[in-house]
Amino acid sequence: MSSATALAHAPFALLPFEHKLDRLAEVAVRIGAGLQPDQELVITAPIEAVPLVRRITEQAYKAGAKLVTTFYADDAASLARYQHAPDGSFDYAPTWYYDALAAAYKSNAARMGITGANPALLAGQDPAKVSRANTAMSVAYKPAMELITRFAINWTIVAAATPAWAALVFPNDSPELALSNLWEAIFFTSRITGEDPIADWKQHNANLTLRVDYLNHKRYHSIRFFTPDNATDLTVGLADQHLWAGGGSTASNGFYCNANIPTEECFTTPHKARVNGHVAASKPLSHQGTLIENIRCTFKDGKIVKATATAGEAAINKLISTDEGARQLGEVALVPHNSPIAQSGILFWNTLFDENAASHIALGQAYSTCLIGGDKMSKEELSALGANDSLIHVDWMIGGPTMNVDGISADGTAEPLMRDGDWV
Ligand code: ZN
Ligand code: ZN
Repeated sequence: MSSATALAHAPFALLPFEHKLDRLAEVAVRIGAGLQPDQELVITAPIEAVPLVRRITEQAYKAGAKLVTTFYADDAASLARYQHAPDGSFDYAPTWYYDALAAAYKSNAARMGITGANPALLAGQDPAKVSRANTAMSVAYKPAMELITRFAINWTIVAAATPAWAALVFPNDSPELALSNLWEAIFFTSRITGEDPIADWKQHNANLTLRVDYLNHKRYHSIRFFTPDNATDLTVGLADQHLWAGGGSTASNGFYCNANIPTEECFTTPHKARVNGHVAASKPLSHQGTLIENIRCTFKDGKIVKATATAGEAAINKLISTDEGARQLGEVALVPHNSPIAQSGILFWNTLFDENAASHIALGQAYSTCLIGGDKMSKEELSALGANDSLIHVDWMIGGPTMNVDGISADGTAEPLMRDGDWV
């Protein structure tokens, strides 16, 4: 199953860069997307990811892809819009483009998103414009996004290092060194540095499945997060009929995929009205180009009643005002502090990585697949079970080396799940 190249079993550090990229591409296609023969693949990517996209395209055709279509985005062009476009245009999004994505998924195309754009691109832009553009985009994207969150098709997100992102992660290195460091960090945390990455991923998925099965067996009523310094003491009620998930999953089209490369989390759907207490973010949040630092929130009966931050406080308050469900939770996830990403000690300023470094919660849309039978339920049925509905889904990290987590049963019995950041 593994790469057919002669260097497939050489120590990873000795591989030429092109071969390393090829390994990531192979894992992205076979483990991430789980692409099937005769299936279309639609890729979205930053323009700097061209070398990786070409490898992925090659691997996809080798796996039998019918057609691979890539849409590239360019940070410089996005920035030009904020600097020069007419003010009235920021409530507009190209619905025709998002409808095309939805049409592709409806015709069973697999989806691959490549992340790597500059996380701080819009940091200096007018937050009101950023927010208006994001809202317009979210509305236009909703039909396609619903197919993704419901796992109507197999999909994945992988990362490509880009110069601007690398400069943010490794600010003290030369541009060349920073880029190379970020690529190596992506390779390591994406678990492709072993002798047989495909086999390693199958083992990793099996381990996550064991953990998920245990949590599902326990049927906890709620999860309590608390730290010794009392910065966090948050009780997250779980949705009725909640289902824990982690690692790979089988989409409605029958194809098995890993939606995130890397992934370390076990996650489920909270009850949108049963979250109480206070919580401090353990890492900064990069949201659509704005960096939000030291978020602290107070929840009452599911809703954020107070949100502060030492930087980007306006952005977090705009975010939670996006719509009715934006100040309620759609996800709760457990990640041990001994995961490769946490151990790398790197702050990636990118949710795909940072959310897999720490336990987290997400504001906004719930995953209907995290409810028993949820993928076949109507909006009303999902809501009645406590699943949140929103245009946004934004993860933010609350876990770290001092986080304790209890699973609480319906009768109030608390069972320790995590102590000092790791599984008990
Ligand atoms: Zn998550
Ligand atoms: Zn999430």
